[in-house]
Amino acid sequence: MKISIVSLGCSKNLVDSEIMSGALTRSGHEISTEDDADVIIVNTCGFIGDAKKESIDTILELSERKMSGSCSKLIVTGCLVERYAEVLKNELPEVDAFWGTGNLLKINEVLEDRRPGAIHKNPPGTIYDPDTPRVMLTPKHYAYVKVSEGCSRTCSFCIIPKMRGVMKSRPVASIVGEAESLVRQGVREINLIAQDMTSYGRDIGTSLEAMLRELAQVDGLRWIRIHYCYPWGITDSLVELIAREEKILPYIDMPLQHISERVLKAMDRKTPPARIREILKKLRDGIDDVVLRTTFIVGFPGETDDEFEELLEFVEEAGFDRAGAFKYSQEEGTPAGSMHEQVPDDVKDERHERLLEAQSEISLRKNLSLVGTVHEGFIEGEENGDYIARIPSQAPEVDGYTYVKKTGNPKLKTGDLVNIKITDADVYDLRGEVIL
Ligand code: SF4
Repeated sequence: MKISIVSLGCSKNLVDSEIMSGALTRSGHEISTEDDADVIIVNTCGFIGDAKKESIDTILELSERKMSGSCSKLIVTGCLVERYAEVLKNELPEVDAFWGTGNLLKINEVLEDRRPGAIHKNPPGTIYDPDTPRVMLTPKHYAYVKVSEGCSRTCSFCIIPKMRGVMKSRPVASIVGEAESLVRQGVREINLIAQDMTSYGRDIGTSLEAMLRELAQVDGLRWIRIHYCYPWGITDSLVELIAREEKILPYIDMPLQHISERVLKAMDRKTPPARIREILKKLRDGIDDVVLRTTFIVGFPGETDDEFEELLEFVEEAGFDRAGAFKYSQEEGTPAGSMHEQVPDDVKDERHERLLEAQSEISLRKNLSLVGTVHEGFIEGEENGDYIARIPSQAPEVDGYTYVKKTGNPKLKTGDLVNIKITDADVYDLRGEVIL
């Protein structure tokens, strides 16, 4: 059968969609586009309000395709199923079956299930099977590698531990084995992802550092990028390893969520403000040209004007290279979801806008300071007569790009690694020229 997978949400969901594509291909099916598909799978996100709405809208839109007969089966998978399987089954009779986030290598079983609206919720299964390689949905030169599933932390606003279970780390050998297989397929950049990266390995007697040391031995791998660090797990030895190991990019993605002592406590975030500042200093002192990315939540229940001002001052003081912000989303099933003093939406909107405004001035200043510097970068494609590239400080899909004029440059193709001199910048993107 021809099967199309619509992948919504974060990079972890994208990897799940690639795993499902690999399992279906191994079972003799063909991964196709929506227009061509007999079966459409919607891999949903159920993290916060906006993501849930996007998932439902997508399911409804694709239901029409099924009703019009352009595909025969519609299957819904992922986090939304983990949270609302029974509700979805009752509300969406046009969906043939539901599959949660677990045991994705067995996804083909759902195609054989004739029960209308069958629900398959499985415990987290194997993330990687060497005999069932993923079908990559990213350009060939970079990939995401999920190093663990689930999270054992208890942030009061977060539903992920309920959707994905407690943290289960993959053995180092499995991660290194997959990296070697990806490099054989042309991958040069690996983006490591998890819910809580810095806790990797604690449940299996190893550590993030130990895994990184082994991963850095993989021949042909050029860039290793670390995402989703939890501040508490940033150790001296990790900082030293990143500073020393050329393949590990000086790039740290570390969601902090807030800086006010009271708000961090109410969020059940285990890292107090003073420790956060220490960690930022340790990263900047320990790793040359380190790029720091973070995310904040505005409008958490009870957040006062003063606490928001404190956060805004911190954003200006800390000067992150990248900082995103979410408006707090009241999620049933989370401790914060039943807290009093929920902040009105218009206040959340205003705080969200002010924080992004403050960060945009910092991002512009940081980007302009790169003018005149030279970096290696991967060509990502072309747009409006320019090549699009990414330098080490630009993660795929979440950070900006570097635009390089085509004229006067040799013919380049996606995945080429070139040296780029930065010539100009704006808040999000850079401009540059290829240095031959
Ligand atoms: S560390 Fe991240 S995934 Fe885990 S509970 Fe906190 S916010 Fe959720």
